[in-house]
Amino acid sequence: MKRYSHFINGRWHPPDNGQWIDAIDPSTGEPWARIARGNAVDADSAVACADSVFQSGEWSMLPARDRAGHLFDLAGILQERWPELVEFEVRDNGKRISEVRPQFSGLHTWYRYFAEQMLQIEIRTLENHIPGIRNQACFEPYGVVIAITPWNSPLMIAAWKIAPALAAGNTVVIKPSEHASVSTLEFAGLCSDSSIPDGVINVVTGTGPEAGEPLVCHPDTRKVTFTGSDPGGSKVAQAASRGVVPVTLELGGKSPQVVFADADMDSTVNGILSGIFLSNGQTCVAGSRLIVTSRIANQLVERIVQKANSLRPGDPMDENTQIAPLANEAHLQKVCSMIEKAKQEGATCVCGGKRAHVSTHPNGYYVEPTVFTNVTPEMEIWREEVFGPVLAVASFDCEDDAISLANDTRYGLAAGVWTSDRKRAERVAKQIQAGTVYINHYRSVDPGSPIGGCKKSGYGRELGPDAVRAFLQIKSVWHGTEPCTDPFPD
Ligand code: NAD
Repeated sequence: MKRYSHFINGRWHPPDNGQWIDAIDPSTGEPWARIARGNAVDADSAVACADSVFQSGEWSMLPARDRAGHLFDLAGILQERWPELVEFEVRDNGKRISEVRPQFSGLHTWYRYFAEQMLQIEIRTLENHIPGIRNQACFEPYGVVIAITPWNSPLMIAAWKIAPALAAGNTVVIKPSEHASVSTLEFAGLCSDSSIPDGVINVVTGTGPEAGEPLVCHPDTRKVTFTGSDPGGSKVAQAASRGVVPVTLELGGKSPQVVFADADMDSTVNGILSGIFLSNGQTCVAGSRLIVTSRIANQLVERIVQKANSLRPGDPMDENTQIAPLANEAHLQKVCSMIEKAKQEGATCVCGGKRAHVSTHPNGYYVEPTVFTNVTPEMEIWREEVFGPVLAVASFDCEDDAISLANDTRYGLAAGVWTSDRKRAERVAKQIQAGTVYINHYRSVDPGSPIGGCKKSGYGRELGPDAVRAFLQIKSVWHGTEPCTDPFPD
């Protein structure tokens, strides 16, 4: 079984404590690789290396077009060799190959896009009212950026963080999830085939408390970008605050899909299904609360249930599989216990509702696509993120009630609005508290569009026109153009 060490300064470093974590294939429940169980010593080696490369200026002081050239080189390698990475991620987190392939074939675009965005950032001359002085805003990288990623889409989420961070001139240490680190380590191996200097991209693996926290708390860490759960994000923000280190937090969600009677039924059914059952609902923007007008609730739910019942579970490496396993055993237990709790609290299970048994993969972590109706706002299934294939349905009678139900959550990541009335769609979208609202559509991401949340879904934004700026700090430079006068004239 292959063992993966930490990746520091372009080389593989075994863990300081000699300990390893099994990587488990969620479709079989069997270990298939081992990753280093990092600790504070490993974290220190990685940050020290990233800091020394940053301080040397060989990356941070390069003209933006030269850094872009290196990122284009990496993008070229990814464009050609992404198929080598696919199987690692499928085995790591069990996601279907038919979802991983398109995600990976586009990985190179994130690196190109943010390298190009950096080329647009220029020193700005600022207005000031002091005679004989010129003032400029210069944009400079922070230094060492810690990128902490979850297990659901490790390489895509890593790209959202490291492509703009690197374009800006920072060096990075990535801490992938202990449940899915291998694809990130294989990606690091590809990076060492690019022209990006050693030590600019480093990877330390291990658990959050043992490996992640020492990275966040390291005295040479200058910025943290975190995607994960809200309890994890809160701990990271607290730890970073001790060192006065800025953090971007992309956290969980309990996103509403609001459906009005005039919505295009076929399109809405497809949008709801893709929002909650693609990736098994293991996406931050999963549309997990269906809020539908009582006029069409039965009809819509029937269509969703009919399709959900027909989905084929199977081997995630098989292109024809429609339902893959959940990503790890602890998560399977959590999802199953939330389903049981929903039943106990009185929600009606109209579809699925238990672990799925797949004859070819008897020990895989499969769960049936599940739909609950008669969900009320005090139930756990309405309030808490499942991060699994579980849809909670509630109905409304008027637009104001729909908006109140949509906002009845501590999260604010995404939302969907389905109606053929454009004015209503815009009115409702404006009142929903979320970082992203999709109208008659769901789940797109693009480098040009910011993603992030409000309320407990986090703060800061990734992607979009300001993505690189988020990894730059402003230095105000004053130029005296006339001799200084004596401050204490006789
Ligand atoms: P998690 O919080 O358990 O872990 C995320 C990462 O943080 C892992 O690498 C983990 O090791 C690390 N970590 C945990 N505690 C830490 C600590 N104290 N210090 C440093 N690092 C620590 O989340 P998860 O279970 O891996 O991912 C699922 C969650 O991620 C869901 O809540 C989901 O909504 C969220 N998510 C959000 C987005 C988004 O863009 N908003 C995208 C994907 C996933």
